[in-house]
Amino acid sequence: MTIKLTAKITAKLAAKPVIKQIYSKLKNEIEKYQISPKLAILLVGEDPAAQYYVNNLEKKGNKTGIQVETIFFPRYVSQMELLNSLEKINNDNEIHGIMIQKPLPEHLDESKINIKINPEKDVDAFHPFNLGNLLLENEGFIPCTPAAVVEMLRFYGIETAGKNVVILGRSNIVGKPLANLLLMKNKTGNATVTVCHSKTIDLIDVTKRADILIAAIGKPLFVKPEMIQENCVIIDVGVNQVSDPEKGIKYVGDVDYDACFDKASAITPVPGGIGSITTAMLLKNVFLAYKKTTQIR
Ligand code: NAP
Repeated sequence: MTIKLTAKITAKLAAKPVIKQIYSKLKNEIEKYQISPKLAILLVGEDPAAQYYVNNLEKKGNKTGIQVETIFFPRYVSQMELLNSLEKINNDNEIHGIMIQKPLPEHLDESKINIKINPEKDVDAFHPFNLGNLLLENEGFIPCTPAAVVEMLRFYGIETAGKNVVILGRSNIVGKPLANLLLMKNKTGNATVTVCHSKTIDLIDVTKRADILIAAIGKPLFVKPEMIQENCVIIDVGVNQVSDPEKGIKYVGDVDYDACFDKASAITPVPGGIGSITTAMLLKNVFLAYKKTTQIR
């Protein structure tokens, strides 16, 4: 008699093949139409992390055929000055997509700024018009991080229909739009979605029922093995800077990756997970914005 031992293998859901596919399709489309889509980024202040992100976007954009122009504003720019610049960019036919780098300094009213962006150039999809269309399942821009999560699940063939999906975090940029995407009546939706937040009682009871657990709370290594069920899929949206004895600083997710790895059936790493796909989805939205603001169909 032979006893067959089958070891459980956890899949690491890496972003690399996902973004390779997105960038290659995007580059082909841009070359096919011989166009030059352009993104304007409004950057307030001198936060090094924001600068790094914007530089990275410029590099990725250049490689793909998308121009990225960063417009710098001093930390104490007035709301009026920022809105006036936004108005000019809204009306500039050479600019197809607009992104305001977040977070903004506290003296600026983010919701009043979001609402001033031309919805057809709103590649971050934070304008109420685009968020409303998402809710109604109309065509439009989808916020990039939730879109990245759905793209990751789609690429790796992870079914969502009928699955218990638990999202940790109810922010306007991740948790809420993501819940709506996963509820949609389509191939990448149809999930039974639960959204948790800081007032959720007995959080572990909820997370343990998740077939797919998505963490977006901004708490380093918060999700531990005792919070998940065997063989669940884990998507980690969190990006948290923590100190590291060797490197000085490093980035970790909201999930304790090493501790949860064996218990999960699939898990995204940080870095190398949702963050890189988010950038690709943003550039994809710039191409969509080009199509919306010109006659290309
Ligand atoms: P946020 O606006 O600070 O929202 C955090 C959410 O988590 C809130 O809904 C909060 O609940 C909830 N929360 C906090 N502590 C909790 C707890 N102990 N139990 C349950 N829920 C809790 O954060 P965000 O902007 O959505 O970002 C979340 C994380 O994702 C951060 O690490 C951020 O860096 C990362 N992120 C990554 C990307 C990417 O591209 N990879 C993009 C955006 C954000 P309340 O509503 O009750 O306060």
